Amino acid sequence: MRKLAAGNWKMNGLAANLAEIETLVAEHGDAACDVLICPPATLLAPMAATAAGKIELGGQDCHAKTSGAHTGDISAAMLKDAGATSVILGHSERRADHGESDADVAAKSLAAYEAGLIAVICIGETEAERDAGTTLDVTGTQLAGSVPDTATAANTVIAYEPVWAIGTGRTPTLEQIAEVHDFMRDTLAKRFGEEAKGMRLLYGGSVKPSNATEIFAVSNVDGALVGGASLKAADFGAIISAL
Ligand code: PEP
Repeated sequence: MRKLAAGNWKMNGLAANLAEIETLVAEHGDAACDVLICPPATLLAPMAATAAGKIELGGQDCHAKTSGAHTGDISAAMLKDAGATSVILGHSERRADHGESDADVAAKSLAAYEAGLIAVICIGETEAERDAGTTLDVTGTQLAGSVPDTATAANTVIAYEPVWAIGTGRTPTLEQIAEVHDFMRDTLAKRFGEEAKGMRLLYGGSVKPSNATEIFAVSNVDGALVGGASLKAADFGAIISAL
């Protein structure tokens, strides 16, 4: 399986930041893993010109409908049209800020498949849920509800992102990451059989150059979804090199 280093720029990035992509393409355009950057939608088209097929681009959300009266929203086909190959769905910031449910994420994932995009579906427990010992219950419920029945290794990537580790500088222990990733693989295998072996499982939450190597060595970790450290080509490049 080809590993994946995915960067989520969140609501960061202006035209001036396209230079980071030029550096990434120059230094990691032939990386041994797939490299995906998900910028704000405003930068997709200019970034596509710079990425020149050397790195993949993705959106950070899409609407479940293909078009229509949905002011401020963006469709999967629009992302594809602007140069995206993937879209992040169900990020905890979307779930918290916009009240997205597992059913919403599943509907958006179907829209992504319909447009020919890979859905990068995010799940993860809050700190209170981890402290209560319900991490596997919570992530299991999210997996069951957010991942459509038509998911395949080609159209779906799952990102395990503990909410308490996002942007905090805190990470789970390697044993805790392994426990959830092994659980995700087993759960997906029960539902999707052999296909589950090829589904890439990313870890996300405060990944940085200094911890990437040890996290990538954990069982069933097939790459990372990186927020803050994806904004600078030097940091993200070091994470790509660790994969
Ligand atoms: C994220 O937003 O998906 C993320 C993992 O953020 P950070 O790497 O900054 O914790």
